[in-house]
Amino acid sequence: MGPPGAGKGSQSTKIVKKYNMPSISTGQMFRDAYNNNDPIGIEAMKFIKNGNLVSDEITNGIVRTRLLRDDAETSFLLDGYPRTVAQAIALDGMLDDMHTSLDAVINILSSHDVLFERMEQRRVCKTCDATYHLRFKKPQEDGVCDLDGGELYQRLDDTHESVMRRLEIYESKTKPLLDYYSNKGILYNVNGMQSFDKVYDDIILVLEDIK
Ligand code: ADP
Ligand code: ADP
Repeated sequence: MGPPGAGKGSQSTKIVKKYNMPSISTGQMFRDAYNNNDPIGIEAMKFIKNGNLVSDEITNGIVRTRLLRDDAETSFLLDGYPRTVAQAIALDGMLDDMHTSLDAVINILSSHDVLFERMEQRRVCKTCDATYHLRFKKPQEDGVCDLDGGELYQRLDDTHESVMRRLEIYESKTKPLLDYYSNKGILYNVNGMQSFDKVYDDIILVLEDIK
């Protein structure tokens, strides 16, 4: 968990490699669906581009379907889900049905100044969704993904207005979830205003400790 721009996607990519588990990112699933002209993606993008949340019903539905795939049977990492208390309750129901539960909720902390700068400078690969930053994680060639040569673009929701709206929504709808998971005793805070490697090391310390 963490506000938009905190580094959830960047860290998830590395964590799932280490533990060999799938990363389930609702934002990425919506963007993929939109790029594939899937009706759910087109509907979702109407909300996403203005910085609003997609409905709980649509979001819970795509997560439920995704969790049933074979690769999520033993372990998985959720990135950007749940984002509302209603989603957290729905997720608990899905996990109960799977006879499992969450081991840890990692919350990446960051200040608003840092978040604005990160999202304005974020660029994403059109084909593989790899994320770059124009200063802190520059691609080798301008506008081209290092991994697959895909075109880098600025997300439709990384405009100043949309970022403001997303931060407001984070404060009102998502932050209350921190208490929800803190009360369950599984919330771990990590300082996201450090280098990529330091944030990663801090997350791994938590995960190794609870294993
Ligand atoms: P989120 O998934 O939480 O929205 P991202 O992982 O996409 O965040 O990161 C947002 C932007 O900030 C990207 O451009 C990314 O390259 C950059 N970024 C992420 N973590 C760091 C960090 N620790 N230091 C500098 N830049 C970072
Ligand atoms: P970020 O953390 O930078 O906002 P994400 O890729 O996680 O990026 O999400 C992008 C957008 O997709 C969100 O602003 C929201 O509109 C939509 N979205 C992603 N996850 C959810 C969710 N769990 N519930 C509702 N909408 C979501």
